[in-house]
Amino acid sequence: MKTEILEKILNDVRKTILNYSGNNSDIWFYANRFVFARLQLDERRTKNKIKKKLFQTRPACHYKECPQKKLESLKGIHLHRQDRTKGYSLKNCVLAHSECHKKMHKEESQNIPTNKSVIPRKSKKYNNGLFLYWWDLPPNLVNSLSLYTIIEFVKKDCGESCFIPFQLIRNYLAKYRQTSRGSGNWGIKVLPQKPNELAIEEPKKRTDKWKTIPVRWDKINV
Ligand SMILES: [Zn+2]
Ligand SMILES: [Zn+2]
Repeated sequence: MKTEILEKILNDVRKTILNYSGNNSDIWFYANRFVFARLQLDERRTKNKIKKKLFQTRPACHYKECPQKKLESLKGIHLHRQDRTKGYSLKNCVLAHSECHKKMHKEESQNIPTNKSVIPRKSKKYNNGLFLYWWDLPPNLVNSLSLYTIIEFVKKDCGESCFIPFQLIRNYLAKYRQTSRGSGNWGIKVLPQKPNELAIEEPKKRTDKWKTIPVRWDKINV
């Protein structure tokens, strides 16, 4: 989005209001407030429509640690944009209690730099015979990712990495795959016998039974 164009639109509106009000500060105040309030209302209407639709189809708070996920009404419920670089749309929005919404934003700001769609995770090389690389994904990071986020799994020793859309990995991050590390981290590993796959750790299963995602390792020269 070009800011200069938006600045021009804003200046045009300002000029129009000034021309209309002449030098009368009362008229200027009224006209300015009128336009300002209506534009805000436009946004609120858009949001309300989306809220209602979401409530009809899935009346649930999106915050993973919400104590009461099922929503009984829309009272006090916020609309949250999953991808902050995008606007309010049915696809990009979820519902959350105001308190949960605050927590979502807090966790989001603690975990990922805003406006970044690629999240790098780094792993050193392991020579223990069990796995070659190991990345942990903590729940608060996972909860803060949008579907459009891409996780970059980086091998620190050789600089190779693979890019996996969060959407692809999300379904594998089930409760029964959470480990006892951290606050229930998910473990992603590269096994020696499957160097071109990411294996999703499953605490109670043998490694050869773990779900894997085929990947391609590339060295990106920056
Ligand atoms: Zn909630
Ligand atoms: Zn939000």
